[in-house]
Amino acid sequence: MESLLEPAPDAAWVLAAKGYDPVREGIYEARFSISNGFLGVRGARAVSHGSRWSEPVRTYVAGLFDISGPDHPLPALITAAGWLRVQIIPTDELLAHHPVEAISHDTTLDMRRGMLLTGARLAGPSVAVRARTLRLVSLCERAIGLHVVELQVEEGETEVTLEASFEGLGLGLVPEKVEHDLGVWRTRYSGKRLAMAAATSLQIDGSDIVPARPRPFAWSWHWKTHPGQTIHLVRLIAAARSDTRHADPRQIAWGKLRDAQRLGWRKVVEQHEAAWSERWQCSDICIGGDPAAQQALRFAVYQLNSAVNPADERVSIGARGLTGEDYHGHVFWDTEIYLLPFYTLTWPEAARALLMYRFWTIDGARAKAAAMGWRGAMYAWESADTGAETTPDRVVVPDGRIVDVLCGKLEQHITADVAYAVWQYWEAARDEQFLLDAGAEILLETGRFWSSRAQPEPDGNCHIRGVIGPDEYHEQIDDNAFTNVMARWNIRRALDVAALLRERWPDHWANLSSRLGLVDAELAQWRTDAETMATGRDPRTGLFEQFAGFFDLEDIDLAAFSGRSVPMDVVLGQERIQRTQVIKQADVLALLGLLPEEFPGDSATANVRYYEPRCSHGSSLSGAMHGLVAARLGCSDLALRYFQQAVAIDLADTHTAIAGGLHMAALGGSWMVAVLGFAGLSLHGEGIAFNPKLPASWQSLGFVIQWRGRRLKIEIDSAGQCLLAKLQAGNAMTLSVNGRQHELRRDQAAVCPL
Ligand code: BGC
Repeated sequence: MESLLEPAPDAAWVLAAKGYDPVREGIYEARFSISNGFLGVRGARAVSHGSRWSEPVRTYVAGLFDISGPDHPLPALITAAGWLRVQIIPTDELLAHHPVEAISHDTTLDMRRGMLLTGARLAGPSVAVRARTLRLVSLCERAIGLHVVELQVEEGETEVTLEASFEGLGLGLVPEKVEHDLGVWRTRYSGKRLAMAAATSLQIDGSDIVPARPRPFAWSWHWKTHPGQTIHLVRLIAAARSDTRHADPRQIAWGKLRDAQRLGWRKVVEQHEAAWSERWQCSDICIGGDPAAQQALRFAVYQLNSAVNPADERVSIGARGLTGEDYHGHVFWDTEIYLLPFYTLTWPEAARALLMYRFWTIDGARAKAAAMGWRGAMYAWESADTGAETTPDRVVVPDGRIVDVLCGKLEQHITADVAYAVWQYWEAARDEQFLLDAGAEILLETGRFWSSRAQPEPDGNCHIRGVIGPDEYHEQIDDNAFTNVMARWNIRRALDVAALLRERWPDHWANLSSRLGLVDAELAQWRTDAETMATGRDPRTGLFEQFAGFFDLEDIDLAAFSGRSVPMDVVLGQERIQRTQVIKQADVLALLGLLPEEFPGDSATANVRYYEPRCSHGSSLSGAMHGLVAARLGCSDLALRYFQQAVAIDLADTHTAIAGGLHMAALGGSWMVAVLGFAGLSLHGEGIAFNPKLPASWQSLGFVIQWRGRRLKIEIDSAGQCLLAKLQAGNAMTLSVNGRQHELRRDQAAVCPL
């Protein structure tokens, strides 16, 4: 028996499901997805009876966008062929694994090793076999996928045919040249190409059997079974994408496949495991005293590490990663606000690539600003491959009506969210090359946008009218506090970066400012705009008004609707909800989560008290942000409840809405609650600070972060009332814990009392 097909014995590292339930299949497919930021494969078990085929296990390829036609010019992620199908066909019956007549079925996501393992007993009238499978998409060489199937014949002496094949060839893609085991397809409209190559081999009791090749990407073998026989099927695939019509990615796919074949599949597994081991060393998170939270955070970290490709600056992470088709692979603020904190602090190379995606798409943002009559760069609310706006104009809402979607035009805070992530990365990584190559330009062009967007009015203030804030239940609003304060912050960081460049890299500043046409008078105008920006903050109470007129709207007691099973906009209707103070998701509280310094003294608590009861959590982003702000304020029970709400979205079996893919923002948000919330990590000026407040049930919280070329291991011990910090790599530094400074030296553990 092949021990590589055995899941890790440690329950804290696996996520498992038993049996098969067609109603839950979509949920399992998303939850057991594997991906590596380039390829994504859902965890479909594809069990069916007789000849009734199930859905193909499609492959998602990052960046493979196409429109569905000139009448529907919105790009969506196109699915590529599935490569996992295996059928066993006894002479006169159909017993199939993938699909299969399964007597039992176990699925295990081995998060430590980054792979999906299954075990099943398959039986038909003339033969019964025990099957185990392993599937992975390599974290070491992202072009490569591996599928290993081991069959042990338990009963039956019969002639069988085993066919391994691709499925859905040509689904959504146009075949250009498809040969036996190498093919190239193109998207219909967007001029991209995808090449796939595959090699499949089969051994019976250690001897290779030559396959028949009935058609391209299909291999079949015929033999007679007998009890005790062991069959190994090994399939390697390689994929390559090209973004222009002129490049043919076949050679790349073929070369990668050949390299993997030369290595051999066990070495492919070994290198993949080594890559995962490195990732875990840089990003594992350990909770003492709460096994459910431990498993949930491992799952979050597993999926976050799976979602990104630091080597591809032309793609970002869609709201559902590469785990499902909801939102068509589009990129939202989810990435910059809910995912970047994890990457910035654990995987700076990945953070950099995600931010470079915003740099490579800045012309789309410039075009959007210009088309709407503003200057600078205004990022798309939903973005695909070019940076052009891809938000649909209309959608079908849960009660079946077709409604207009205004977010593409009005949800403008995304522009400040991108700038926010750029600045956080700069604070955490001090990546000068990135700042000079891309970061400064993003900050300047987004600052310029806000300065043109915010208009001075007779009251002496600058106003931003006609927007949608994070709370999408209220449209066409004026002076959304989140938007305006983030815009002001964006303008100020643009001024900071201008000053920094001018001082430290004067030649670079001279070139960049001249290329962007930035003169001192414009910078002076930015300063005035920032100083006069309306914020809706009452200086007496510290309370922000979510937008102009919000406090005059009907106040509704959400407690009266606690038993509801549908979102509040469905309960009240789209028109009525606009006239109430019912909020879709954290809005002022999201501002508190991002810019706590804007909430001095008691004003953080005042805003939480006001807005928390009015939030209906109609978005998967909401719980984590509430958890973060509650944790920072020391409301640990409330924060833990929100944390549990966030992780339940993808992990609780009661939930139904995950078939369309995992909620990446909720996964990233749960990491934020733990590290930025409970551990109280913050980046400030020249340093890094902790202010831990763990929930009562968490005995300890340990994690690793990277900061300015250093690697730090942190463990917060509740019983011992201390924070242990160890500098694993990089130069000595100072750490602030609850306001006290501690010197950290390489490989010496510092015990910081709490
Ligand atoms: C939320 C947005 C979010 C989007 C994608 C929407 O329901 O309101 O804030 O960006 O989903 O996750």
